Amino acid sequence: MEVVKEKARIRKIVQEAQAAGRTAGLVPTMGFFHEGHLELMRRARADCDLVVVTLFVNPTQFTPGEDFEDYPRDFERDREMAASVGVDYIFNPEVEEMYPEGFSTHVEVEGISDILCGAIRPGHFRGVATVVAKLFNIVPANKAYFGRKDAQQVAVIKRMAADLDFPLEVIGVDTVREPDGLAMSSRNTYLGEQERLDALVLSEALGVAAGMIASGERSAAEVTKAMRGVFDALPSVNLEYIAICDNIYLRPLSELHGEVLIAVAARVGKARLIDNMLFEVE
Ligand code: AMP
Repeated sequence: MEVVKEKARIRKIVQEAQAAGRTAGLVPTMGFFHEGHLELMRRARADCDLVVVTLFVNPTQFTPGEDFEDYPRDFERDREMAASVGVDYIFNPEVEEMYPEGFSTHVEVEGISDILCGAIRPGHFRGVATVVAKLFNIVPANKAYFGRKDAQQVAVIKRMAADLDFPLEVIGVDTVREPDGLAMSSRNTYLGEQERLDALVLSEALGVAAGMIASGERSAAEVTKAMRGVFDALPSVNLEYIAICDNIYLRPLSELHGEVLIAVAARVGKARLIDNMLFEVE
């Protein structure tokens, strides 16, 4: 496995592989790998001839006062973990390589960027869409892999790839969880001992929703009320939102039918955590 710092070099590597008839898979990340990241890499490894992981803590997707400076970083550990699942290249540019002086073009995916997490983190999805559009151009892959844990991010990127005619397939990969149900996240390292226990409230509330849907409940208001009750029992956790919506436009649903996304966001100590489940409801 090789680490590449320059845009021109990684693009040439991918283009030459494709000219020789090989397919390329792209896994964009901000590093500090866990099993969720490795699962995306394994999927790419299984599907594609060449696997490129990008590791870039993108400053433009952090809003003012967020954790850009404190975001966990451990390049040597990441390098070993990526090599262990057969990644071919890590593209790890410096900020100046991605945003040279004079940079002034941004990608705005209107509508779905301004709701849910976008309402709480204004400008976040503009930063995500812009850097991912750049990565799609720098690493002209055949397939790109994103975690469904970030369901709104997947929706924003699928929309952007369709709207801007990027000739690649955007693939969503299921959320990888800790044995007790907590969705894996680089930000889980911020959690103290008690906070780590409290953080289970997100997956527990989603479990309550799953149970209600399995028992025939179809009212979004009833499911939201029950989920809210789970959070109310734990006042140390600050619930940001519970959303019951479709999985493409993220529009709120009142009746649960078809593909239904239930998403939650909450603050536990200094960590902002998100989780969701996708249901196929008859
Ligand atoms: P990040 O480094 O946090 O920006 O995440 C890089 C990619 O890994 C994104 O596509 C995330 O959605 C995905 N990812 C993060 N956590 C998980 C998880 N627990 N399960 C599956 N994918 C994940």
